[in-house]
Amino acid sequence: MQPDISVKHLSKVYGDGFQALKNINLDIRRGEIFALLGPNGAGKTTLISIICGIVNLSSGEVKAAGYDIVKDYRKARETIGLVPQELNTDSFETVWDAVSFSRGLFGKAPKPSHIEKVLKDLSLWDKRNNRIMSLSGGMKRRVMIAKALSHEPQILFLDEPTAGVDVELRRDMWDMVRKLRESGVTIILTTHYIEEAEEMADRIGVIRQGEIILVEDKTQLMTKLGKKELRLHLA
Ligand code: ATP
Repeated sequence: MQPDISVKHLSKVYGDGFQALKNINLDIRRGEIFALLGPNGAGKTTLISIICGIVNLSSGEVKAAGYDIVKDYRKARETIGLVPQELNTDSFETVWDAVSFSRGLFGKAPKPSHIEKVLKDLSLWDKRNNRIMSLSGGMKRRVMIAKALSHEPQILFLDEPTAGVDVELRRDMWDMVRKLRESGVTIILTTHYIEEAEEMADRIGVIRQGEIILVEDKTQLMTKLGKKELRLHLA
């Protein structure tokens, strides 16, 4: 089966000459939860941003659902939902309007039945007429996920979805991500936390100083390395 994301010989050099990614090769399989684990500055956000077409690549090739992110940007981007690390939630809009508007940004025709499903799946239905800025932190995070799912992407990126959230909300997010996977969405999340990768992922990739240093099934990785050794890679 064709992978949902295919990254080949990808490198990124920023304008100031800093090489943030070095020859990345990575396949993400259809329907899996893949955790990209790495310390601060390892290149997680850069990698996600390139796959989503937000940042230009320097060399190499990236495909999403078979579409080249450079040559066939629109088609590739349509298959992807992105929940960025920095959440923009100071909005006067209602939940319903914001999620519907997001769908429109992808040039898709309105589909209230889909918006309703997304809001119900994320337990946001009762809040649909509330303004986003009036919601709790946890609900705001759900709205960002709902926006990312508004155009029915088959792939969802979550960039550090639980950074700075309390334990209860973290568990809540984990449950939600599992539920989304059950609905058939391929999920890639970045994290600093081994526990999060262990709890959530089918496979784990470790990125360090712009290089993917290992990719393994979760259980194999934990058996092979154990948390202690894995932690050394994240220091
Ligand atoms: P964190 O976990 O702290 O969010 P990260 O793994 O997501 O880190 P990136 O944000 O991708 O890492 O950054 C990777 C490296 O690239 C860092 O050294 C960062 O300073 C550098 N970098 C990121 N954006 C730029 C930019 N626009 N110009 C120059 N260097 C950049």
